[in-house]
Parts: sequence; C-alpha cells; structure tokens
Amino acid sequence: MSSVIPANIGVLGAGQLGRMLALSGYPLGNRFTFLDTTGSPSAGIGEVIVDPDNQHLAAFLDRVEVVTYEFEHLPVALVREIEQHKPVYPGSRAIEVCQNRVEEKALFDRLGIPTPAYRVVESADQLEAAARELGCPVVAKSVTEGYDGKGQAVLKQPEQAQEAWQSIGHSRLIVEAFVDFVREVSMIAVRGRDGQVVFYPMAENQHVDGILRYSVAPLPDLDERVQQTADGYIRALLDELDYVGVLALELFQTRDGSLLANEMAPRVHNSGHWTMDGAVTSQFENHLRAVQGLPLGSTEATAPTCMVNVIGREGDSAALLAIGNTHLHRYDKAERPGRKLAHVNVVAETHAELLDKVRACQALLPEAPPVAWSFESTL
Ligand code: AMP
Repeated sequence: MSSVIPANIGVLGAGQLGRMLALSGYPLGNRFTFLDTTGSPSAGIGEVIVDPDNQHLAAFLDRVEVVTYEFEHLPVALVREIEQHKPVYPGSRAIEVCQNRVEEKALFDRLGIPTPAYRVVESADQLEAAARELGCPVVAKSVTEGYDGKGQAVLKQPEQAQEAWQSIGHSRLIVEAFVDFVREVSMIAVRGRDGQVVFYPMAENQHVDGILRYSVAPLPDLDERVQQTADGYIRALLDELDYVGVLALELFQTRDGSLLANEMAPRVHNSGHWTMDGAVTSQFENHLRAVQGLPLGSTEATAPTCMVNVIGREGDSAALLAIGNTHLHRYDKAERPGRKLAHVNVVAETHAELLDKVRACQALLPEAPPVAWSFESTL
C-alpha cells in the first residue's frame, strides 16, 4: 500500500463510533490510537490512552500522524493544542460551533439555513417571556453540553418556565418554537481535503425521548428538490467551516416539504450507521478517506435499509440474525438503561418488505418502541 496512507490515526474519544471507525480503517491499512478524556472508554479495539487529567497528550501525539474525533464534547483548547502539532480533521472551529447551540444557530442564520424560531435566555423570567412571545409549546435547551435530548424541557405553558429553568440547571438556554414536523430527517455529507463533497441520501429518523431509535434510507417518497435543498444547506456548512470529514445535519421536515435545521454533529453519526450495510461506501470509510486525503467513495444506497438501535437491553442475537439480510453490530458494552449497546442494519428489496422485517426485529428487542415511518401508508 502506498506510503501516502498514514499508518496511525489518532481519535479523540473512544466509544462505539471510534470502534466502528477502526473496524473500517483496518482494510485501508490504518492503525488507531484513541485518546479518552472521560475515564470510561468502550472502543475495545486499537490502543486506548485513558487520560482524564491531560497527562499523556505527548504520548498520544508521538504515535499518530493525523487526528480526528468521534466525540465532540472535548475542551476546544485541547483540540487547538493538538492542532499545533498534528493535522486535525475536522478542525477546532467545527467543534467550537457544534458545542454551542447559540453559535450553531448563528451560523445557520448567516448561511440562510432556516431554523425553528428561537430566543436566547439567561433567567427563568426571560424564559417565560420567550415562551409567551414564541407561543407554546416551546423547547428549552441548554446552550452547551446537550445531547440525546439531555438538558432539555418542553414547556406547554409559559408558567412552567420556573420549573423548566430549574430542571435544566444551566445559566443560558435556547428556547425554540415547537415544530409540528411530518418527520425528522438527517443529512450525512463528506468533504475531502481537496474540497470535494459527496452526499448520502437523506434518512428519516425516529426518536423517542430524544434518543434515536430507527433510521431508514433512502426515502421512497422524497422529492428530489428537497434532497437538493438539503445538499445545498450542508454544502454551505462544509465550505464555510473548510471542513474535512463527515458532517451530520439533523432537520425537521414540515407539511409543505420545507426543512428546518435542528443541529449538527462534526463526526460520523448514529443516523448514518445504515450506510455500513446499505451504501456503496460507509460513512466510516469515507470519513477515514477524507482525513487521509484519499478519493471519496460512492455514497449511493444499494438497497432500502433501516438501522435499528439496540438500547438498554440486548435481544437474542441468533434470532435477529435469522431474519434475512440483517447485520448485527455490537459495541461490547454492558447493559444499562438508555445505553446504546448495538445496532441492527436490516436490508430488503422493497420498503414494504423492509417494514415487515424491521417489525420482526423490533419484536425481538425488549426495549424497542413501535416503528412509525412517515411514508408507511404509501407502501
Ligand atoms: P436535539 O437534542 O436538539 O436533537 O433534540 C432531541 C429531540 O427533541 C429531537 O430529535 C426532536 O425529536 C425533539 N425536538 C428538539 N427540538 C425540537 C423542536 N424545536 N420542535 C419539535 N421537536 C423538537
């Protein structure tokens, strides 16, 4: 293999996303060193440096040629420091924006990407006023440290502001109008070091309590113009941030087909896991190709595919695999309520067949909620 391929990739974070990055990088000849700042790594692959007190950065940097990450809730100062020594893709600016909902919304506004109407508030009184102005229901979200629906509250009435403010417990919140969406969707796109951009087909995502449960792609009823609009939004973000790697953008689709951006993640994303078995090149491989300056692979979907998250408790693996064309990806983690333990990619020839198979899969998973796709009635 050519010497232009770095032998060792440094990954900030060491969870299941890092594990899957490594699994897709070994065929390219890569090796992986993870830097875990949380004290609880779960990648279970490659070399893991556990460094909650920032004592081993030099050892990490010594081992790696290029650095990427699978977890964005890291101190920006740490990423900046690493950038002084090794190339980091995507760069610290992307992390900085994605860690802060106010900066993220400001970037969407600047690039003309529509979002739900929102206000920034710094007290319970301001929260109440914003709820009155926007009209309830509204969603209040902490500006920093929020993910998987954490640090959020829905207010049905402005009078709930005091209670919501206390339950979130942050000094600065974003308050958004509650979107009456038809479906939640996401875009995964990849930008190479040379600025080339490729887009995966849009996926529909079903969340329960803020946690992703199912992602299905491609969408049989998707208007080509909607996909193009979404491609345009994510391309604007990628170019503005001079981004390298996979970027995920979550959006709401409303009744008239328009899209409102919710949030983005500067890394491979749970709603892109279907690409491991349903696209020509997975998001993980394409991310690694991008950070190494290699040509990007085709993002074309090969068949209707649904990713089913296994959360809290595992199912019977043998029974899941007995469903034709299903693929189980386990993360080697202990069962715990709300914890992502694995996912199952279900592949079928038609969306109707896919729905039947996903329902069979759901019946085998103790914590899986009922499947509800927006396009079910058209199948
Ligand atoms: P987030 O952490 O911002 O992705 O929010 C988690 C989930 O809460 C989303 O996937 C939606 O299901 C729901 N949600 C967040 N913001 C809104 C909103 N403005 N309107 C309706 N639902 C929302």
